[in-house]
Amino acid sequence: MSNTQTDEHGQVRDRRGEWRPEKPAGFMPLFDWPQKPLNILKWFFSVPGFFAPWYAIYVALTCFAYFVLTPELAQMETLSLDWVSLILLRNIALITVFTGGLHVWLYRVKGQGRKTKYNGNWMAKKDRRFLFQNQVYDNVFWSMVGTLVWSIYEIGLWWGYANGVLPYSANPVWFVLWMILMPFWRNFHFYWIHRLIHWPPLYKTVHYLHHKNVNVGPWSGMAMHPVEHILYFSCMLIHIVVPSHPLHMMFNGLTTALGPGVSHSGFDELVFGDEKSLRKEKLMHYLHHRYHTVNFGESAVPLDKWFGSFHDGSPEADAHFRARRSN
Ligand SMILES: [Zn+2]
Ligand SMILES: [Zn+2]
Repeated sequence: MSNTQTDEHGQVRDRRGEWRPEKPAGFMPLFDWPQKPLNILKWFFSVPGFFAPWYAIYVALTCFAYFVLTPELAQMETLSLDWVSLILLRNIALITVFTGGLHVWLYRVKGQGRKTKYNGNWMAKKDRRFLFQNQVYDNVFWSMVGTLVWSIYEIGLWWGYANGVLPYSANPVWFVLWMILMPFWRNFHFYWIHRLIHWPPLYKTVHYLHHKNVNVGPWSGMAMHPVEHILYFSCMLIHIVVPSHPLHMMFNGLTTALGPGVSHSGFDELVFGDEKSLRKEKLMHYLHHRYHTVNFGESAVPLDKWFGSFHDGSPEADAHFRARRSN
């Protein structure tokens, strides 16, 4: 009996229905040694690259939320239900449109079938491990809890800006630099809190909830225990110490909330039309859900490489980690 099968798109899947891209997962070239400045420059400005498409989409959404759907600063000096609820409802709308949009396109409309889907199966139904016995409903529920936590951080920080108690900077050079540094800060922070919640006592009580999702979809990204949400969004507390513009704070919160929708989409590429694709390497985090003890971080800062927990999805890496586990 053959160990592989060819699916309806001509992709080879193993006996468990898993598909892997030819190109292994990897890190952004910024920390490569020796440094190749041309490669770094190309990575910043090519499509897909650092800025396009996802970074640019998050900046656009942040600007829209800031200029159209954020109350006046003076109004936020005192906590009151009207502006607090506006921020909460705006954030619910953002995640519903963005993550829900990805979900509808990929999993309801099945806009690209199983083309470049890592796992051969769709989301689980009638599965007692999930709330409402339905993986999608479970994931949406916990994502909404996460949206509440995100909004509480944002509301607290807005209150701080309105009362002049947070370090503020509108220096244009620092503004741009801090915007560019933000993904690196978020990656660095995520790696460490993620390692922390893999500590067995916290894994068993908190992080297990996220890992119920072995086969992931967009809504799985923010499907976490509330304690994990609190730790995960604590990256926003950096604005208590680093001089920022409120736009930095909003961009930080928005990418932390919406980014997981993309990184958990379950697909290697998003195919729009025939050959046009928005490629984002999500293999790295998919493998974390598959094997648990690899790839705690993301691709901007190669902490996994430095600490020996990096799995690139290749058969060689599989063999390496299997040998390590049996030792
Ligand atoms: Zn995850
Ligand atoms: Zn984990």
